[in-house]
Amino acid sequence: MKRKYMLSFPESTGDKPVVCELVRRYDICVNIIQASISPAMAGTMLAELDACAEELTQAVEFLAGRGVGVELLTDKIALREDGCLQCGNCVLACFSGALTIGAPDWKLAFDRDRCVLCRACITACPRGLFGISAE
Ligand code: SF4
Ligand code: SF4
Repeated sequence: MKRKYMLSFPESTGDKPVVCELVRRYDICVNIIQASISPAMAGTMLAELDACAEELTQAVEFLAGRGVGVELLTDKIALREDGCLQCGNCVLACFSGALTIGAPDWKLAFDRDRCVLCRACITACPRGLFGISAE
């Protein structure tokens, strides 16, 4: 099963291979979607973890034990496609490539698996067609 998490790494983990250890211990697939690190070595990482339920639970416990903040992202982006103008504003705002307009029909397409929940599309749409829904 795949789950998206926002991980917050404190400065104390800046010189430790926490993610490497996570992968080795739990045979877990980590897809890093977005990451940033401060000069002081604290950081955040939006990542999708892919493993069985038991391993995911153990992985979250492992991360928490290392002082990493773990937030499970359960929100989803909702789109009301019926009012779409095909203006492309949301496509320009969506850096992950989840929103596209292209051949053959040149209509807006939404690949939800690529969505990283950045919410840029919500403010980009002139018609307010995007929103947040709980999983
Ligand atoms: S939330 Fe971000 S990644 Fe997801 S569809 Fe909107 S702009 Fe794209
Ligand atoms: S910004 Fe809104 S109206 Fe424009 S293409 Fe995206 S969903 Fe459609």
